[in-house]
Amino acid sequence: MTEQQGPDSRPRTADGLLRRRARAVIPGGMYGHQSAVPLPPEYPQFMKSGRGARLRDVDGNEYVDLMCSYGPVVLGHQHPAVEAAAAEQAALGDCQNGPAPVMVELAELLVATVRHADWAMLAKNGTDATTACCTIARAQTGRRKILVARGAYHGSAPWCTPRPAGTTEADRANLGYYTYNDTGSVRQAAAEAGDDLAGILVSPFKHDAGHDQELVDPAFARGLRELCDATGAALILDDVRCGFRLHLGSSWEPVGVDPDLSAWSKAIANGRALAAVLGGDAFRDGARQVYVTGSFWFSAVPMAAAVATIGTLREEGAIEAMDRMGAALRDGIVGQAQAWDLAVSYTGPPAMPYLTFDGDTDHELASVFAASAVRGGAYLHPRHNWFVSAAMTGTDLALVLEATDQAFAAVRKRISQLSA
Ligand code: PMP
Repeated sequence: MTEQQGPDSRPRTADGLLRRRARAVIPGGMYGHQSAVPLPPEYPQFMKSGRGARLRDVDGNEYVDLMCSYGPVVLGHQHPAVEAAAAEQAALGDCQNGPAPVMVELAELLVATVRHADWAMLAKNGTDATTACCTIARAQTGRRKILVARGAYHGSAPWCTPRPAGTTEADRANLGYYTYNDTGSVRQAAAEAGDDLAGILVSPFKHDAGHDQELVDPAFARGLRELCDATGAALILDDVRCGFRLHLGSSWEPVGVDPDLSAWSKAIANGRALAAVLGGDAFRDGARQVYVTGSFWFSAVPMAAAVATIGTLREEGAIEAMDRMGAALRDGIVGQAQAWDLAVSYTGPPAMPYLTFDGDTDHELASVFAASAVRGGAYLHPRHNWFVSAAMTGTDLALVLEATDQAFAAVRKRISQLSA
């Protein structure tokens, strides 16, 4: 898709033209996760439209969407119930001098839906929510240190961005580090923090970009809960990526461990800009004390979309549907890898899978696979977990599996070229 040029050196595609214009007026032509590790050139950068599980790029190519905007789209693009609720609220008002009644309705719904939640605060992005959780934990405990898993992603603010450019050591001075699923390493980091431990931040499972995923060991989750109970520190669950995709409640409810605070965004409003911090009564006072806000944090349309999203997830049995579709996708892909005699790891929950090729440390084979898949109409990712939406149909699955079969063929071919 990138920069295919005609004889007059003008890009031949709408995407190429947009990229060229973007480079003049947007630093690097792109920023954030789509620029830090660029996708193979077969990927479009600019998208035109989406409906259900399908996406269309600016050149008119259609894809089955296995990235779901990196998580926000859970019911499918432009789900009618969500769009109707958003339109109804938009007709009344969105950004006003104060919140609309739907703010209270949504907070009540979140408290009723998520077991550990006694209260809710709303924001825009996942980074707002993870940052606010840390601030609330510090306000409540009067302590400074927050423990995070090495390599985990919690957002793009200076305290958590994976790229050090422009940050200072002071931004991270109050972080301590542990290894995911290793209780001993958390105990050690907690001991180092001593009586200054404000909280432990953890994701529902290990979903670090570019690595095989690792489900949480329930004993590890229980160990964190015990440690926080013993020290008075906040257990903070970063449910930004998994929330409302794996369970209609916190992603650790099936594990039997409740956090004190949790951060949400992505799927909460099926693609509208919204985030939430949820918490238990023990941290309500800390939440009341902190000053967190934003010009757009009280916009009513995303809140109305969230109420409709959560209701529809329940009514349509969407969590179960994603799990079933994810299992069928996994069975199909793992079966294809075996048929092509390729050693792969397919990890993570069925609705949030990730595929790696054994020994492919530089992601070369993953890139060949992804580039071929996207050419075949399956939009997945070589270095980030994928997302299955509830809109995916049997026809979409068949199309994806046709594309991935071709993609495995391309990987086989690359391996023979490399060993020739
Ligand atoms: N936490 C996790 C686990 C995430 O996956 C992300 C986003 N990828 C964030 C926090 C930050 O969310 P946002 O990009 O909306 O700020």
